[in-house]
Amino acid sequence: MTVKAFAAQSANGPLEPMPITRRAPSATDVQIEILYCGVCHSDLHQARDEWHNFAPTNYPCVPGHEIVGRVSKVGTQVTKFKIGDLAAVGCMVDSCRTCPNCTQGLEQYCKDFPTFTYNSKDVHSGSHTLGGYSEQIVVDEAFTLQVPANLDLAACAPLLCAGITTWSPLKHWKVGPGQKVGVIGLGGLGHMGVKFARALGAHVVLFTTSPGKIEDGKRLGAHEVVVSTNPEELGAHRGSFDFILDCVSAQHDVNAYLALLKLDGTLCMVGAPEKPLPVIAFSLLMPRKNFSGSGIGGIAETQEMLEFCALHQITCDIELIPIQKINEAYSRLIKGDVKYRFVIDMATLKKS
Ligand code: NAP
Ligand code: ZN
Ligand code: ZN
Repeated sequence: MTVKAFAAQSANGPLEPMPITRRAPSATDVQIEILYCGVCHSDLHQARDEWHNFAPTNYPCVPGHEIVGRVSKVGTQVTKFKIGDLAAVGCMVDSCRTCPNCTQGLEQYCKDFPTFTYNSKDVHSGSHTLGGYSEQIVVDEAFTLQVPANLDLAACAPLLCAGITTWSPLKHWKVGPGQKVGVIGLGGLGHMGVKFARALGAHVVLFTTSPGKIEDGKRLGAHEVVVSTNPEELGAHRGSFDFILDCVSAQHDVNAYLALLKLDGTLCMVGAPEKPLPVIAFSLLMPRKNFSGSGIGGIAETQEMLEFCALHQITCDIELIPIQKINEAYSRLIKGDVKYRFVIDMATLKKS
């Protein structure tokens, strides 16, 4: 089946309309008409081949891994969905399903690497996977999520990456009452990190380079907001944090934040800047500290996060855009000019 999509043809070119092919659903596949797709900074990194040394981009590149939509077809053995149901897809569409990591529900850490929603080898097409900036997607039901009925659909879409990517480390490091937790960078990931850390009961401090985001930081759940460009403001928090979640997309000095951890505190990277971040050994030695990282989250954990959101009425703060404005949205993302996630109204793709 041929469907409309938006694709980057090169690292330097804009995203433009392009027809793509979707497979006919197999017995365990669901076909989803995409209604909304969030715009993650990873989409931009990948479209522009900024992760060249780690995950070089295959062109044409159709980004998009924060997908919500309505089931338009189901395979003969599908049990979780029927036509007309809401459904969601995040960053992965498959994995080996048998390795020790997969069998523990950590498909994102599959030993063979999961099949990501875009830019991964696609066993079905023989080419590479194409993501959610498209009219329809076909995904095995095992990698398809159920969407709570009580949440705004467009504001739900970024939960599929920004949500789970911040939820997973907060749960893994058992963030909760009595802990002081920092979130660095108020973008798509950061604003969900603030919401979740607050909902889990921690004392939450947001670090931002943008003084204009102070009020929003508090509205979103931070107890305190620190403008990180001011060394005195940072210094006041020295040695006091249990956990810090680093959600920054560009170069920054992690040593300045490692200094804020207390004994055995952890700084976890979820941001994935293009270039390496130098860490001074002494930042980790005195006192003993952990510098860590976390990648998205497993399928069961993503469903659990969606259910937590339904219970606590948590969604993302979004700006809905037509797909024709995607290149402008990328330029604004680089400037930190988004409150706090762009979501594409996929109905606009029909006009391209
Ligand atoms: P985003 O919406 O663009 O937010 C990034 C935020 O970082 C900005 O809003 C800004 O916050 C801060 N920032 C930007 N440039 C900065 C600089 N030069 N110095 C200091 N702070 C800066 O991006 P996102 O979609 O949340 O993604 C964030 C990063 O996480 C990206 O690198 C993305 O690829 C990565 N990511 C990783 C995973 C994973 O599995 N680990 C999943 C999804 C995304 P302030 O204005 O508040 O300073
Ligand atoms: Zn993402
Ligand atoms: Zn596996």
